[in-house]
Amino acid sequence: MLGVTRAMDFAARRHSTQRRKGLKAEPYINHLTEVALLLAEATDGADPALVMAGLLHDTLEDTVTTRAELVEAFGDDVASLVAAVTDDKELLRDQRKRRQVESAPGKSPRARMLKIADKIANLRSLTESPPLGWSARKRHEYAVWAREVVAACGPTNELLERLFADIADRIT
Ligand code: ZN
Repeated sequence: MLGVTRAMDFAARRHSTQRRKGLKAEPYINHLTEVALLLAEATDGADPALVMAGLLHDTLEDTVTTRAELVEAFGDDVASLVAAVTDDKELLRDQRKRRQVESAPGKSPRARMLKIADKIANLRSLTESPPLGWSARKRHEYAVWAREVVAACGPTNELLERLFADIADRIT
């Protein structure tokens, strides 16, 4: 409980100036709490570290946070989960997307759950609040790629897979 609350506070502060890309421009923390809730439900509340990683999953990619900082504040397990779903920023956008598909099977089951929860939240945002300038074709292509990533994750968690299929079916 304390860990989850601290992760929530940390994430809210680090992402405080960011908003989602969609038309509604929701505060970024909404995305993080959605991912965390999906993970809490998928594990029936039994894996607080995974929920914390859900809250923190974009800190390395999108804020000034370092992995050492996450280790210090939240421990190795949480930091490793976040690192496992962080793209290598040295790579170009298309390479990063390819890498997500290629690397998914080698990730731990918990990291794969985090990956799927993130894709569910992203596809929901894409339907409920599409980014300005994103054509139906671009949305479709994103969903096709998300499906590839989730398929590459293999059987991971029934609830998450079902929720992903529900939303992906609406777009593709
Ligand atoms: Zn995310």
